[in-house]
Amino acid sequence: MRYYAILSDIHANLPALEAAIAYLASRPVDRIIILGDIVGYGGNPLECLRIARSLPAATIIQGNHDRVVAGEHDPYLRRPAQAVAEWTRARLLPADLEYLTALPAGCIVDSLFFAVHGSLYHPDQYIINSRVARRNLNLLRERFATVKVAFFGHSHVQVLISEAGIHQRFADVETIELDTKKAYLINPGAVGQPRDGNPKAALAVFDVFRWSVTFVRLDYDIGRAQQAAAAAGLPPELADRLVYGL
Ligand code: ZN
Repeated sequence: MRYYAILSDIHANLPALEAAIAYLASRPVDRIIILGDIVGYGGNPLECLRIARSLPAATIIQGNHDRVVAGEHDPYLRRPAQAVAEWTRARLLPADLEYLTALPAGCIVDSLFFAVHGSLYHPDQYIINSRVARRNLNLLRERFATVKVAFFGHSHVQVLISEAGIHQRFADVETIELDTKKAYLINPGAVGQPRDGNPKAALAVFDVFRWSVTFVRLDYDIGRAQQAAAAAGLPPELADRLVYGL
């Protein structure tokens, strides 16, 4: 195993997921990791779930939207997202709901790195400020002797966090060499609903031979994703924001 493709926050956006899969098919990938939220927000939950479940050699983590769609009540989920979760739940088969329920909240992949949805502390914690980032970095440094890299999602912002600071805004394809002795928190960005001001679908590829991460952004058919959401009668503000990456 050398190349790990890291995807997160697909959010039932089929054109974005198809662009990600097409990109990965064009390069060597040994294993695909999905950091949660396959469903929620978008209009193609069945199709996205089918693709995710059919990926060979994939490790899939449960996101907060997956959990709510599967039936758990989350008082913090905002109204439009709650409405989409209910719409999604009504469309999925019992086997799909069982599948979402059974997904793990996080794991260590091949003794190499953590895969979590929100943070090392909690699946719903956002790593979006320097205080939370520092606490998670400290946990990686002090508690875990061998595993120094954690991939996380949930914030929908492509970012690399280390002791040196927070690195954001990468080129469409940008490779960062890591130091094997240092701790890193890495968000590959969201496939299906980026929130870092860049509407392109995001992902990352971790090369564990070179110990480097390649951040990738991909054009996809945003109009098609919006049409799917509109045809499903989902709240328009969720599809509108895709154009802005917010
Ligand atoms: Zn999400």
